[in-house]
Amino acid sequence: MYKSKKHWVVASATVLAILGSASAVSADETGQSVTSSIETEAVLAIADNESEQDGTKELEVNKEALVTNDVTEEEKVAEKEAEVVSETEVQASETNTDQATAEKTDTELVSEQQEAKLSNATPADAGIKLRRVVDNSSTSNANQTTDTSTGTSAVKEEPLVSASVERKTLTIKYNGIIKNQEKIKFAVWSDNKGQDDIVWYDANNLGAAYVDLSKHKDYGLYHVHTYSFVPNTAAKGLNALTVTVAKPEIQTNINKTSAGNFEILINNVPDTITSVLVPVWSAKNGQDDIKWYQATKTTASNYKVNVSVHDHKNDTGLYNIHIYGQSVITGGLVGLTATSGFTNADSRANATVSMVNYAENKTSFDIVVAGNSNTKTVKAVSIAVWSQDKGQDDLKWYTPTVSGNKATATVNIANHSNTSDYYIVHTYVDYTDGTRSGTNLGSYKITKPVSKTVVNAELTSAGISLQVTSTSVNDYSKVKFAVWSDENGQDDIKWYNADKTGKAVASYENHKGFGNYNIHTYSFETGKAVGLNGRTITIAKPKVSTKIDQKDENTYTVQVSNVPLYISSVTVPVWTSKNGQDDIKWYKTTQENTSTYKATISVKDHNHETGQYNVHIYGYSKIGGSHLMGLAGTDGFVVKNVKTEEVKLSVSNYNANAGTLDVVLSETTNSKSIKSISVAAWSEENQKNIYWYTSSEKTNGQVKVTVNERNHGYIKSDYTVHAYVDYTDGTRTGHVAGTYALNADKKGSASQGDYEVINKVVYLDAGHGGSDSGAYYYNTAEKTLNLSMQKLIKAKLEAAGYTVVTTRTDDTYVGLTERSQKVNASASDIFLSIHFNASTSAAASGIETYYYQYYPEYPAKINTKYHNTSERINRSATLANAIQSATVSSAGAKNNGVQRNTFAVLRETTAPAVLLELGYMSNATESQKIKTSAYQEKLANGIVSGILSYYKKYDI
Ligand SMILES: [Zn+2]
Repeated sequence: MYKSKKHWVVASATVLAILGSASAVSADETGQSVTSSIETEAVLAIADNESEQDGTKELEVNKEALVTNDVTEEEKVAEKEAEVVSETEVQASETNTDQATAEKTDTELVSEQQEAKLSNATPADAGIKLRRVVDNSSTSNANQTTDTSTGTSAVKEEPLVSASVERKTLTIKYNGIIKNQEKIKFAVWSDNKGQDDIVWYDANNLGAAYVDLSKHKDYGLYHVHTYSFVPNTAAKGLNALTVTVAKPEIQTNINKTSAGNFEILINNVPDTITSVLVPVWSAKNGQDDIKWYQATKTTASNYKVNVSVHDHKNDTGLYNIHIYGQSVITGGLVGLTATSGFTNADSRANATVSMVNYAENKTSFDIVVAGNSNTKTVKAVSIAVWSQDKGQDDLKWYTPTVSGNKATATVNIANHSNTSDYYIVHTYVDYTDGTRSGTNLGSYKITKPVSKTVVNAELTSAGISLQVTSTSVNDYSKVKFAVWSDENGQDDIKWYNADKTGKAVASYENHKGFGNYNIHTYSFETGKAVGLNGRTITIAKPKVSTKIDQKDENTYTVQVSNVPLYISSVTVPVWTSKNGQDDIKWYKTTQENTSTYKATISVKDHNHETGQYNVHIYGYSKIGGSHLMGLAGTDGFVVKNVKTEEVKLSVSNYNANAGTLDVVLSETTNSKSIKSISVAAWSEENQKNIYWYTSSEKTNGQVKVTVNERNHGYIKSDYTVHAYVDYTDGTRTGHVAGTYALNADKKGSASQGDYEVINKVVYLDAGHGGSDSGAYYYNTAEKTLNLSMQKLIKAKLEAAGYTVVTTRTDDTYVGLTERSQKVNASASDIFLSIHFNASTSAAASGIETYYYQYYPEYPAKINTKYHNTSERINRSATLANAIQSATVSSAGAKNNGVQRNTFAVLRETTAPAVLLELGYMSNATESQKIKTSAYQEKLANGIVSGILSYYKKYDI
């Protein structure tokens, strides 16, 4: 396969070489020799073509000649053989020819062709009549290479070689005289395929050869080269010409014959096409409906197809039509043309197109395209709008979205010339069936209203209240206000969107500074900022007025007026000149009206001092964010006289048989302010059983203590009660409450050696106090921590129904023996002394609880009878163990265990007594913990839990 092909390629190369040199000659001759003779032939062919009548006649003659030539089968065979022989010959000559010979042959050929040039003229000169086959369809169907420029000067002459095409036959005729032993051969190949399809045809004895083009299977240009072969002589090129086998050029017409029926007329179909096929499909859903129609032949060159949209799912819109023909040349289907197809239009009505919301003095209007189920389906809408002046320079297309078979476009003249003019509106609606409908809505006069914009600005409590009204605004929600203060340029500029009514509020918080505020108003209706207005408003610095009046002897009012709206509240600090600002009080004010505030000053709040009272005015300003600012100073006022009243003492809940009474001290409007009270009660001479009650718990101006006979040894007698009031100004007054008989039966108590008596009274002794701070570490005094713990434990016990008696409730020094005396005088069941620990070892930590250990070298002074009895020691041990374990557990602290010692309070107290060391202040970590209220709460819970378990054991 490979070898034979190669062989043929070499052979054709040789032929190419021969033909190539011929054309090389014509090039060298610059159109004078062979080329010129060929041109002459071409001119003649054209001249002949123009004579159609003659051509037709001659065609008939030639057909006869063809028939004659085709008659004998022998001749046909001979032709075929000749082709084979010719090919063999060429191959043979090629085989015997080396490169040198080939070159020589070329040279010879050149000279021979130069001679042939002269001999070519001979047949023409001889006046042999030209015989040509003329195609009546067009000159291109069977013409030779032409040059029309010299056509007119041509004379009818018969060319040396002529060629013509009819249907699938190319007829070649050598018109010269064939000499004895001379053989004429024609080399024929199509231009498209190069010399791949070259075939040699032998002329018959009349000089004719008939080429079956279906063997070449190609339309287009064919080359025909004519050679003379005489035995023992080199082959001689006589002529080169080209002939065109024209491609079919059909014409189509598509007509609508009735609704949904179309006919496709296909005309000018050449006879090389034997049948016509027409695929038709709608553009909708691809080729799902494609149908191949066999066209009906109506006349020799005309075909027809009828298409019904019923065969195509009744699709509307564009139909695609291609035309194919069965070709005798190619032996297969060839595409003849694609047509523009046809459109199967929807028969329903178009959608309505209308203009709404038009008014001459309005700068916008709407175009509405509205379809429904009875109209065509709207696919797209394009609306062209422009103003009449200066043509379409301001034309703009609107392409509104189609939804639900409807579309609306809002035309705003701001999108166009934005002038008073006639505006022209053309609307185009594209439907889904491929049709388009244009509507000229005409021109509309718009007289632009004279633009008038007013921006109102007003200071309110919320900010600058803004309101725009403008004749050039249709949609106020597209308006924005830019607001900034002159102070520091536009550092505080902020944009505010107007609401639908044109309102907005510029909050004070968003801006800074006093003075001039700029307000610029813009419309963004067209997407671009259009300035509407510029104005300013002033936010003045506050300039309040004050007025101070005396209301009564101890009361003064301060009225603050002209308070700006950006001040949200007013506050009035007042203090006396005496002792600096020790008595300063910030008075809240009440708002009288939008700009007036009032404060009421009571001299009671200033220790009823006389002299100069200083009054300043402050307010919270919203500008730049809420902050306190000074609004004004004043001259203040001078208080010359004050009316002071004594606090009122009263006794309530007096019950002689229960041995109790309440002493209550009450403030009045004009009295001084109570800090704390101390009440002393006694019945014995020399105040032997005196007991001090103290309290600083003030409720509604009242401080109360309860006197209980129990605290006085249950001595039935008349009790003298005195009260002392300590005021916040540091002064003190004494008050006689009177004498009250207390007759409760003595119940006894552990604190007095009656251990079986349970009174549910707990004595808490906060260690140290006053000048004795106890341990002091990390800026914290033990005495303070002890008092905090006592307060927590006391509250929890009282909540559980116990009475709590204490040594001290404030930072007061109390001696150690004095503490035990107080316990022993009370009706307490148990005694707890509260402490925090310290060590020279920084690592020491944890909790320990002590009870009494007798050491002979430390004899008891006031508790000689009970200090070391087994009853007291056992009860003390029980209490110590209960508290230690519960507290360690609750606090999660290190357990240093229960320990024993001869501390004075443990030794001299008659009741069961313990001393708690609740943690090491000297330990950095524990020190931090014990200062927190959360840890103190855990300690207090543990201690109270221990106390309650003691009561559970002894209280039956
Ligand atoms: Zn201590």
